[in-house]
Amino acid sequence: MMKVRTRYAPSPTGFMHVGNLRTALYEYLIAKSQGGSFVLRIEDTDRERLVEGAVDVIYNTLKIAGLKHDEGPDIGGDYGPYVQSERKDMYLPYAMKLIEEGKAYRCFCSKERLEKIQNENVGGGYDRHCRDLPQEEIDRLLAEGVPYVIRQKMPTEGSTTFVDAVFGEITVDNSELQDQILIKTDGYPTYNFANVIDDHTMGITHVVRGCEYLSSAPKYNLLYEAFGWEVPTYVHLPLIMGKNEDGSVSKLSKRHGATGFEDLLKEGYLPEAIINYIALLGWCPADNQEIFSLKELEQVFSADRISKSPSVFDYDKLTWFNGEYIRRMSLEEFTEHCMPYYKEFFGDKEMPWEKLSAILHQRVTKFTQIPEMVDFFKEIPEYDVSMFVNKKSKTNMENAPVMLKAVYDKLSSLESWTQEAIHDALISLATELGVKNGTVMWPARISVAGKTVTPGGAVEILDILGREESLKRMEAGLAKFE
Ligand code: GLU
Repeated sequence: MMKVRTRYAPSPTGFMHVGNLRTALYEYLIAKSQGGSFVLRIEDTDRERLVEGAVDVIYNTLKIAGLKHDEGPDIGGDYGPYVQSERKDMYLPYAMKLIEEGKAYRCFCSKERLEKIQNENVGGGYDRHCRDLPQEEIDRLLAEGVPYVIRQKMPTEGSTTFVDAVFGEITVDNSELQDQILIKTDGYPTYNFANVIDDHTMGITHVVRGCEYLSSAPKYNLLYEAFGWEVPTYVHLPLIMGKNEDGSVSKLSKRHGATGFEDLLKEGYLPEAIINYIALLGWCPADNQEIFSLKELEQVFSADRISKSPSVFDYDKLTWFNGEYIRRMSLEEFTEHCMPYYKEFFGDKEMPWEKLSAILHQRVTKFTQIPEMVDFFKEIPEYDVSMFVNKKSKTNMENAPVMLKAVYDKLSSLESWTQEAIHDALISLATELGVKNGTVMWPARISVAGKTVTPGGAVEILDILGREESLKRMEAGLAKFE
């Protein structure tokens, strides 16, 4: 059997949309699941669309996402060069060959003429004026140095059928097809032509791309046929949609949320979670498993489980995945990931970082939530004395200051300020006073956090704040009752 070779062929035109990343991921998985090679090819033929720095974005994304390519511009390989602009002299001979075989022709039509027929023949396209020029005429025009493009002679009758692994058999009437340009007046290939020549000469077996290319597939097919080359397996991927506020869906765009890989990272999503989620956008495993490492995906992925119905990018679901990945980290790993967010928020202030992480680990689903969750450690917010009243904890305006004063007295005489000692002191205080634990804990927590919802309870917060700061905050809390 032929060795599977897939290629990711991005055009360096900007940021990495999740749709592009999914294409790269599926190319990678189709190759890896079958022991094949995953090739990176930079398609920079459309010079006007190039964006500075976009190639670096591609390398960076593949690296962070863990999609290691086996061949590419940076690492070489047997099928190079891997950048289209460096292959630019390879294409013309192929077009010349088609001319010799009567499957392509030189078109000398001027821009003015093309514009004129465009206006007269709206939507009808090129009228094939040069398709059957007599040889003497061609020789004369060539001798005069009239510029020309090379067009493919498309069949004018019958139909073309191609098979897509996802969308099935698709047939188009040949009468709808234009005599497509293969080589432009400057001698360089059009994008479609370069793409086909590259895929063939690089031995690509599976072409994975977004379904926006589905309508061009017959043109590609006819090129393979003209050369007598084997057509690769086409795998067109379904659209990715976004949920609108009114419940409808439309093509995923910035108004739905972050759509670029880097932006998602900035929003606090882990690369592993993004990759896991994206893998399931259009593909499903044979069972109900949802959490997959890249290694696992490499084992179980198969193109025949890709769906053709559009998939909806659900940010809540991605957040759920992210939370799952966060909880699977060790506390140490989690702390490491939190560190940049801590440093950004706390500046030079030193905190017992691992203890802080311990109360966040089960609660955080996105790292960007951290500042808001820990803000009260930096500075206690302005809060109203009414916060001390809580039905469930059985606290009211009468008993709350009494409880708080008792906590204050108990803790100020505590010998060692450890979580265990604080815990034991508060529990025994509740017993001594004959009240629920909560009746003691609630006022304590409000006085040191100034918030009703906090990661961690009174004990953890007191421990993290330390003796001095805790007592100071409790004094301020007591003062509110005066
Ligand atoms: N260069 C094309 C793009 O970035 C890829 C087309 C293909 O994969 O065939 O959309």
